[in-house]
Amino acid sequence: MKLFMFSNVYQKHNQMSMNPIKISVAKGDGIGPEIMDAVISIFDAAQVPLSYEYIDMGKKFYEAGFSTGMTDEAKASVESNGILFKGPMETPKGKGVKSINVTARKTWSTFANRRHFKSLNGVETVFSKAGIPIDITIVRENIEGTYGGIEHMLTQDVALCRRFITRPGSTQVHRFAFEMAKREGFHKVTCAHKANIMKLTDGLFLETFYEVAKEYPEIEANDMIVDDLAMKLVAKPQQFEIVVLTNLQGDIMSDLCAGLVGGLGFAPSANVGEHISIFEAVHGTAPDITGKNIANPTALLLSGFMMLRYLGFMEHANLIENSLLYTLENGVHTGDFGDRSTPSLSTTDFAKAIISNLGKSPKENAARDTKATSAGFHRPIAPSEQKMMLGNQVKEESKIVGVDLFIESTLTAAELAPMIQKHLVGEQKLIMISNRGTQVWPTGSVFTECVDQYRARIEVPSSTNLEEMFGLSSRVSADLMVSTAEILRKFGEKAGYSLAQGQ
Ligand code: NAD
Repeated sequence: MKLFMFSNVYQKHNQMSMNPIKISVAKGDGIGPEIMDAVISIFDAAQVPLSYEYIDMGKKFYEAGFSTGMTDEAKASVESNGILFKGPMETPKGKGVKSINVTARKTWSTFANRRHFKSLNGVETVFSKAGIPIDITIVRENIEGTYGGIEHMLTQDVALCRRFITRPGSTQVHRFAFEMAKREGFHKVTCAHKANIMKLTDGLFLETFYEVAKEYPEIEANDMIVDDLAMKLVAKPQQFEIVVLTNLQGDIMSDLCAGLVGGLGFAPSANVGEHISIFEAVHGTAPDITGKNIANPTALLLSGFMMLRYLGFMEHANLIENSLLYTLENGVHTGDFGDRSTPSLSTTDFAKAIISNLGKSPKENAARDTKATSAGFHRPIAPSEQKMMLGNQVKEESKIVGVDLFIESTLTAAELAPMIQKHLVGEQKLIMISNRGTQVWPTGSVFTECVDQYRARIEVPSSTNLEEMFGLSSRVSADLMVSTAEILRKFGEKAGYSLAQGQ
């Protein structure tokens, strides 16, 4: 009877897709297998035309000696199917291995992390009580920023993390946000950043945002400093539709948004790339409740809806989403949310409740009969190496005009300056010395506290070359510990380096 109720949907869809689409599924660690089994049982009951290739990824594969946390077969499966539906995974701590989640996102170039935060009836929050509906999509750049994971100890007291923001990487994620807005009927895209402080990195992210925005005149584009965004998301969340951010800022702001709609149990995510996409919940492996059959599968199910819509299964997504909304609206809940005075269901019973409600619709906020079309999924074709080099548009002539030498020392800047100056030749000039980014020589304040890591900026008024700059670095190294050097370049007349505070 139940099958009959939604068989029309299935038949209609089945006519469109002759064969089921094969996807790779990694159940993950901790509560991963419990919630993945629950979600797949719902997909099966709704006759979603997918077939599943289960793959080996996660903690136990690190422990079995696979340094990337996955077998070669698992990698080949994802690279052939193009879609990975995954449960949360744990990366062993203290073993020096990189996070499997970040590695997967980066290796397969899933440059846009889309996270959707929507109020759900039956999930009570401060905002639902105040009658303020929330429907915000965060698009987080997923490859660059501090997630390059490029860190060095410059001295035993000073650690440095490099933060890459690139023009092609930023353009890719901005275009993703605007294309999504256009396809799915959004009106506004907001870029959040910290370009007032990080003028070159976030400045580039912002500049590329407005360059891409010009191609979409029908969509409103605005920008906002990220701390202002944090305040406004809490004070007036209804003013946002899509917010696009750099990697770490996007990570933090999306957890804030999860808080607005009831917590991580309701936060889905899609990591979308040109060739491969990964769908997963935002939450982790929840070791404290693993094996108890009490985990909430909603976030993974919501991620599943994103995947179904990405694959073009709009009607199946609407069917299951309406069933979930109906179930929640009727007060059915797992132990982590909902009315504590009514008994909570186990993970499996919660999934069964959703299955039994397939074909029903909630009174309010039914899944919109979206006009959205799929982003156009196709199985990956191995690209040539050349194609994987993102656009490199050389626009301006560049020239070398100096070097920043990072020097480990406990001397004062005034003592250090002559020790550097004695190695300068020709037009080379010591312009300033800074400590933790603040100028301390030739002028500064006696109140500026310092650490054992200085930056000495040497400039050449006309131009110089690499050989001269490394020669200088090598001469200074005879007297002082040079930890690293950064070449100063100009692109046209524009300096490709920032000033020190106080310079
Ligand atoms: P967590 O999200 O696993 O848990 C935080 C809290 O939320 C816990 O109290 C947990 O019980 C609860 N919780 C999370 N998901 C829930 C669900 N579906 N239903 C009910 N309650 C739920 O965060 P954590 O404890 O910081 O991380 C645990 C592990 O997960 C770590 O090893 C971490 O690296 C990993 N992790 C993986 C991913 C991923 O695979 N994408 C994401 C985040 C964390």
